[in-house]
Amino acid sequence: MEIKKGIGVSPGVAISTAVVLDADSVIIPRRKGIAANVDAEVERFNLALRQAIIELTAQRDEFMAHDRKEIAGILDFHIGVLKDKSLIDQIIAQIRDHLATAEYAVSTVMKQYANVFSRMADRYLAERVKDIFDIERQLLTRLTGQQRMDFANLTSDVVLIAHDLLPSQAAALDRKHVKGFATDAGGRTSHTAIVARAMGIPAVVGLTDITAEVSAGDTIIIDGNHGVVIINPDEASLEEHRKVEIHRLEIETERAALQELPAQTLDGHLISLMANIEFPMEVDEALRRGAEGIGLYRTEFLYLASDHEPSEEEHYGSYADALLRLKNRPLVIRTVDLGADKYTQSKATNPERNPFLGDRSIRMCLHDIPMFKRQLRAIMRASVLGDVRIMFPMITTLIELRQAKMLLNDVMEELEDEGVSYNRDIPVGMMIEVPSAALMAEKFAREVNFFSIGTNDLVQYTLAVDRTNERVAGLFCPGHPAVLSLVRDVIRKGSRTISVSMCGEMAGEPLYTLLLLGLGLTTFSMNAPDIPEVKKIIRSTTMEHARAVARRVMTFDSERQVMHYLRDETRKIDPEAF
Ligand code: PEP
Ligand code: MG
Repeated sequence: MEIKKGIGVSPGVAISTAVVLDADSVIIPRRKGIAANVDAEVERFNLALRQAIIELTAQRDEFMAHDRKEIAGILDFHIGVLKDKSLIDQIIAQIRDHLATAEYAVSTVMKQYANVFSRMADRYLAERVKDIFDIERQLLTRLTGQQRMDFANLTSDVVLIAHDLLPSQAAALDRKHVKGFATDAGGRTSHTAIVARAMGIPAVVGLTDITAEVSAGDTIIIDGNHGVVIINPDEASLEEHRKVEIHRLEIETERAALQELPAQTLDGHLISLMANIEFPMEVDEALRRGAEGIGLYRTEFLYLASDHEPSEEEHYGSYADALLRLKNRPLVIRTVDLGADKYTQSKATNPERNPFLGDRSIRMCLHDIPMFKRQLRAIMRASVLGDVRIMFPMITTLIELRQAKMLLNDVMEELEDEGVSYNRDIPVGMMIEVPSAALMAEKFAREVNFFSIGTNDLVQYTLAVDRTNERVAGLFCPGHPAVLSLVRDVIRKGSRTISVSMCGEMAGEPLYTLLLLGLGLTTFSMNAPDIPEVKKIIRSTTMEHARAVARRVMTFDSERQVMHYLRDETRKIDPEAF
């Protein structure tokens, strides 16, 4: 049994058999097993080794011919390792002495090699551990052939162990059979994590080397509550985790009884709880959990889930679908927020050097006006089908906002000319997710009907922490006093004239409910599974108490104080909160 600690990003416990994927979503085969014929097994290994060396040498020569010396140098290192006599002897000895399969022998010896490298004091050499895993993969795929993961069509229950999952891959997971996942990379507000929460799949990310530690077929516990993964657990551990999950499900059932009750404080203040969605079909689950509408529809998933750019009709179809399910409840359609982690940089013709600071979101839309207008037309056409509101993401300057609104006006005029009906008074809002927008909230409030605070990006840009990077995940904290002061000012300044909501993950974290209430937030939008818990806290406190909590929090000067205090205060009113 081995215990690995990462970042729990989606609660719940999953216990199942592992499928291991490498960085290209290729299934890493089962590494264990006994060889039936030792000589044949050694020959299989020798053949895979020869093939790998021939192919890598050809690639190396090609890079040299094009003056790409750095890459050629890396391949030289790979070839050198594959020709290392002591390594080859150790692998063959594993096969002969332990009757191991070639896959198992390669895997075991390479893991020992990797351990030696990772312990080296020289940072450059320690980094080479990634090359060792790469070499292992080269040999394993030659031994077994490449098998890509078909995310949507599994036949038995599994937990996925992957280097990383794209948000689109996470969204396409077969919910019936994928019981949980764990990844080497990622942070709490990476979109893969958000999708896992929305789907209710237990997940742990940021484990660094879980793909190297787990072998296909291992039994795995994914404990999303505590951010722990247990490899081949003992019976006691299995039993304990089964009990924890049963208890969690009991609490969930208890909370479900709150669905029909209003999110009202003990002293009568009504709060609006909405849900965030990526796909129209999620509306049903959101309503089941008690959402009053959709406060954030991440329309970029229409692009991510498809191999082509969606047409106006495809946009329209999705919005109409969501509205039909909502039956006149509000739907905040956020225009496409592609780029950064919601994009495959490796497939881009011109990869971003700094994706989160690059051509993403509204910037991308303003650079591709025909694409943007297709979406705006679809939104406006759908605006007569229900309570549609439109929201622009990642606005950093007033000019950007005005350009976006101008294009919206152009689209309205076009529809007018074509005799197509639309709602001229559609509420237009913007996300506040960049410090510049938060600092200029007063000015922005004059030009929109509502704000929605996107704390995932606001934290990232205020604290200079990549939200997807496990190495700096400890620094990503919505409770940082600098973030709180921006949030407080946006709520205060915005609420004087327009409505202000929050749709970042902070809105769904029970730890921050009292504080946000006390700061005057009246609309919260979150992943549907978080609604019952947040509602429970709202219904267990008074506005007066929440304001006192907020006043106290705003006197603290470190996030640690903020979190400790909020944890204590929340547990006083709801001991089961976290
Ligand atoms: C945010 O940044 O807080 C947000 C809600 O948008 P997204 O997570 O889609 O970037
Ligand atoms: Mg955002």
